[in-house]
Amino acid sequence: MPGFEFFGDLERKEVNDVLDSGVLMRYGFDKARDHWKALELENLVAERMQVKHAHVVSSGTAALTVALMAAHINSGDQVILPTFTFVASFEAILSVGAVPILVDVDETLGLNAEAVEKAITNKTKAVMAVHMCGSMADLAALRKVCATHNLILIEDACQAIGGTFNNKPLGSIGKIGCFSFDYVKTITCGEGGAIITNSKDIFTKAQAYTDHGHDHLGADRGADKHPILGYNFRISELNAAVGVAQVKRLDDFLAIQKKHYTIIENALKTIPQVSFRRVPKGGVQNYSFFNFFLPTKEITKKVHTEFGKQGVDATFYWFDNNWHYHKKWDHLKQLKGLNKYSNEQYNGMPDYYKSDFSASDAVISKTISCLIKLSWTEEEVKARAQKMLDIIKAAL
Ligand SMILES: *Cc1c(COP(=O)(O)O)cnc(C)c1O
Repeated sequence: MPGFEFFGDLERKEVNDVLDSGVLMRYGFDKARDHWKALELENLVAERMQVKHAHVVSSGTAALTVALMAAHINSGDQVILPTFTFVASFEAILSVGAVPILVDVDETLGLNAEAVEKAITNKTKAVMAVHMCGSMADLAALRKVCATHNLILIEDACQAIGGTFNNKPLGSIGKIGCFSFDYVKTITCGEGGAIITNSKDIFTKAQAYTDHGHDHLGADRGADKHPILGYNFRISELNAAVGVAQVKRLDDFLAIQKKHYTIIENALKTIPQVSFRRVPKGGVQNYSFFNFFLPTKEITKKVHTEFGKQGVDATFYWFDNNWHYHKKWDHLKQLKGLNKYSNEQYNGMPDYYKSDFSASDAVISKTISCLIKLSWTEEEVKARAQKMLDIIKAAL
């Protein structure tokens, strides 16, 4: 997945443009330069993702935060998210004053739409679908639930950029989509992120909020008005420049990922006890991870340990992972922040120690995910697939 594996002349050229002019800020200083990398990146992202608007920000976490802000999710509102995600999802929800409501995932490794429907209350405002490890939840079912209950669908597509659902890019299906360009993502600019939307209203609010409320309508920065209070989630021109080079390479990266993925898939398909993550009808993954299930938790653990011992690197057993699964989120369950949370949040938090996430546990305890690297040679992927095959067969 990581685009940094292929940093080269293209990235260097874009960064040098910025260094040559000396203008590292995305706004203003128009007379001193002849390029606007953040703006160019936004145009490229909007075009590639087939949406009217893209706004780039300082991180994927910032993108999620701004998405929630611009959608008016705030004090005490409930936002539904999966038990399997990255901590950024609930950090963003908490940061806007809202309450994260964890809901079970299924064999898609994404939100189960029936479980989502059961979790809806009169305080629910949004559903954050997280497209973990390159693929998606059943978005048709989630869209239907959101439409029925008048909820905003936000897509966290940070790990699935380039995947599609019914021929539409992931991120463009909900009201707002979020991407991360952090250092380990499919396309990276060091640190960065983006929101995409077809809503002019969301876009207008987002671009103002991420830059201290500037309306960006003045002849220069000082002449801008500030209709709302904002914050600073700006990306720098240096980061955006790397993003400009990388986004142009996205389709090449996706093709390589698919090729490597398919070699591993073809090898593991030969074992009847191995099954694969369900990709919903109409969905196409971005192939950033290869995800599969084994028959029991014990076998899965054993295989994952053997992978590590025998040098099959970059594989993940999420069930025991510190960051991505609800079992290790005591800091969330106890609402342990640096400071006190509001009464609405504190009193609104479910007692997660009493929650039943056995449906998620049943799936995630049998899941292994393998990062698909871009820089592998075909021989390396084939050797790797053979080694995986041998280890799994020996463990069964
Ligand atoms: C990486 C990631 C984020 C956060 O992105 P940053 O750019 O690192 O802030 C959010 N959600 C998911 C699913 C991610 O993988």
